[in-house]
Amino acid sequence: MQQHAVVIGGGIGGLTAAVALHRQGRRVTVLERAASLAPVGAGIGLAPNAQRALDVIGLGDPVRALAAWQGDGGMRTPSGRWLCRTDAAAAAERFGGPLVLLHRATLVDLLRAALPDGTVRTGVTASVADPGDGRRPARVVTADGETFEAGLVVAADGIHSAVRRGLFPDHPGPAYSGFTTWRVVVPAPDRPFAPHETWGAGSLWGTQPLKDGRIYAYAMAAAPAGAHAADDERAELLRRFGDWHDPIPAILAAAAPEDVLRHDVHHLITSLPAFHRGRVALLGDAAHAMEPTLGQGGNQAIEDAIVLAHHVAAGPPVDRALAAYTADRLPRTTAIVRKAARTGRLTLLSARPAVAVRNTLIAAVSRCGPGLVLRGFDGIADWSPPAATYAADRRDLRERQEPRTTRH
Ligand SMILES: Cc1cc2nc3c(=O)[nH]c(=O)nc-3n(C[C@H](O)[C@H](O)[C@H](O)COP(=O)(O)OP(=O)(O)OC[C@H]3O[C@@H](n4cnc5c(N)ncnc54)[C@H](O)[C@@H]3O)c2cc1C
Repeated sequence: MQQHAVVIGGGIGGLTAAVALHRQGRRVTVLERAASLAPVGAGIGLAPNAQRALDVIGLGDPVRALAAWQGDGGMRTPSGRWLCRTDAAAAAERFGGPLVLLHRATLVDLLRAALPDGTVRTGVTASVADPGDGRRPARVVTADGETFEAGLVVAADGIHSAVRRGLFPDHPGPAYSGFTTWRVVVPAPDRPFAPHETWGAGSLWGTQPLKDGRIYAYAMAAAPAGAHAADDERAELLRRFGDWHDPIPAILAAAAPEDVLRHDVHHLITSLPAFHRGRVALLGDAAHAMEPTLGQGGNQAIEDAIVLAHHVAAGPPVDRALAAYTADRLPRTTAIVRKAARTGRLTLLSARPAVAVRNTLIAAVSRCGPGLVLRGFDGIADWSPPAATYAADRRDLRERQEPRTTRH
């Protein structure tokens, strides 16, 4: 029981934590509410910071092998004018690796394959009945009445985390960010294109290649919360983006209405006082949901998982390990949540004069050095995980745990 770790939520953060804890020799159970692990049918960008975190559990190289962006890319206006350009090699050189766009299902498959059969239990909604403390284990209960006692609980239950609400009842929770998003994966258009993010007035479109030859396209627009197209979301995209530059019209033509995903964006602009209580550690969106404007929510969930495993590998007392986890992760993720919100405000400026000034500044600043696209990731994409080796961690863990079979 001492070694048993229960992970609530089988998203990117929960699965990464499960793999990292499993590799330390712990017994791990992942409880996932959904009937299967199938993630939303969209792409996800993993920057070198997340790739280096994945190196710790042996999955960095399989992700790097999926890098598809080669050559040119950058930011454009809806008419197609380039505001700034960069290329894949410059990005890789600046941050020590490529930016990899992959399908979410590919990432989930990689993580799941690194876990023993039976680790993930789907169709199980779980909650924390008792966070435990230094002397007693935490207790997790499922909607079916099953109870788990655990030395460590990882709450990776996403932006609307019930665990967060239970442990931090005074926290205001997520707020609507003022914009909605669309995502779609389609076959590549006939003509070659350079990956781009195109900033309009109050809206944005991005087109990125996947290694399997398909295209991951995403869009954002300022909109009231909860709004939906009266007809379908592809028709809505056509109204908003149908006259933007190539290859956007071709991508819209290739998209089936039912494949277009639409989600409003919420984020935790008020940070939590801590990412842990008792033996429960929050991670990923449950701890610090952010706007997707830097493409870092999943990257930070992966970083969290690896840093959490690093600290618990140092052994009991668990409260010290989790306090060290909070101390490492809270300041960094708070800064990134805020930066993502600032980027969102800049991206979705809608007044024409402000948009003109923004575009002029982006073009001017980019002429004087590496593009804003790259500079915006300084201090984020260049992160590296804590240096301890897992082989040493496992040895230390075994040595420390042998005489302590009665404590949790
Ligand atoms: C439009 C858009 C684009 C994005 N693009 C990127 C990108 O390019 N790069 C990037 O890094 N990030 C991106 N993100 C953010 C990223 O998707 C999230 O930050 C990431 O998925 C969070 O992972 P998570 O594991 O913390 O939570 P989630 O992926 O939300 O997983 C939580 C899991 O917990 C389960 N669950 C919830 N409650 C319970 C319960 N009580 N019991 C059991 N299970 C439960 C849920 O079913 C779910 O499977 C984007 C987000 C959006 C909206």
